[in-house]
Amino acid sequence: MLIAKNQTGETVYIGDLKQKEGLCGCKDDQYYCPLCNGKVIVKLGVQRMSHFAHVQLSPTCAEYERETEYHLQAKKQLYHWVKKQCPNVELEVFLPELKQRPDLMFTFKGRTYCLEYQCSPISEEVFEKRSNGYVRNGLSPLWILGANRIQRKQTNQITLSKFQSLFLKRNHTGAWYIPSYCPSLNTFITITNLNPLSSNTMQCDYNFIPPSKQHLPHWLNPIFQNTFYVSNWRKEVQQVKNNIIRFHKPNHFLQELYMKQLHPHLLPPYAGVPLRDNLLLETSPIIWQMYVLLDNLFMSKEGSILTKDNVYKRLIIRIKRNHIKVRRHLKPSDSQMMALIKEYLFLLTKCQILKEIRPNVYRYENSVVMPCSMNEASKFEEQFYKQMTNEQIVWY
Ligand SMILES: [Zn+2]
Repeated sequence: MLIAKNQTGETVYIGDLKQKEGLCGCKDDQYYCPLCNGKVIVKLGVQRMSHFAHVQLSPTCAEYERETEYHLQAKKQLYHWVKKQCPNVELEVFLPELKQRPDLMFTFKGRTYCLEYQCSPISEEVFEKRSNGYVRNGLSPLWILGANRIQRKQTNQITLSKFQSLFLKRNHTGAWYIPSYCPSLNTFITITNLNPLSSNTMQCDYNFIPPSKQHLPHWLNPIFQNTFYVSNWRKEVQQVKNNIIRFHKPNHFLQELYMKQLHPHLLPPYAGVPLRDNLLLETSPIIWQMYVLLDNLFMSKEGSILTKDNVYKRLIIRIKRNHIKVRRHLKPSDSQMMALIKEYLFLLTKCQILKEIRPNVYRYENSVVMPCSMNEASKFEEQFYKQMTNEQIVWY
């Protein structure tokens, strides 16, 4: 803990204490936990950071006592950074009606934010419970992922487990990002342009911003340029296809492909394209987009008509059968899922497979050609990405 009460009931911040009283003076004073009123002592840090610790730990406070050095450092650094721009920030405020204690709480432009810096995994249930508690009381949860939990795979790749994906959020334009902070480097890390390849591997950008260059309004609603790494994407899509075959447990997708005499390495290039809201689905875009092609175009005659509503209904059936999984904690609405379908159908019109003849009504113009060999598959892919890049439609 960084906060305690003194004998007269005043709140004391450990940072102020050190400055005011020097390293020795405060040892004789009595301090109490603001939550359980138990006695706490000052642990002066030489190597570790100074903090208050319980003499006898009560169950109420056990959770907070476990805070690591890393957590305390981050909290302290963020506190000082917020304070410069927003003097009303408070540390470790206990909200009795919620029985919750955010790391920081501050009001900015009429909204009260409860900042939770999370550098140890918690379950989705706990995350939801705490978030809902804040929202119910008119407070805005602000979850920050501890940078020690970022699993960077390559320069532009990340592995997101269930826990890390809880931190996904959108800016005002709808673009996805994850806010993070590293106390060791003393830097903000914003993970942007998240394009999922599989359920947990994503292409992304890492933006390192020192506190001196980071401003509160921009941090609360970051704006960033869209990027997409075509050659890396193509390589990784291949890798995902390899994995689908290599790790095939009883796998519905593979079974369905084989039944239709298709091979996972010989799929058309428009199964597995980056779309802005691919993140709404946990299933790889290679798999769900191929299901859309199979359900709506495979074996259909050219000239046949399909509507966005029907494509959506078929997607929902796949979801109900568990062939396609949704990222439930993102709570995608019907209209968001419809927008994802619309985005995909738009892409198919750009490839001249479909033509939109009326709003949301499409005619099947040119058949989806399945490549016959690996060579042909990579040639199709080459052409496809060249065309899409020239048209600057998906990723610019
Ligand atoms: Zn306590």
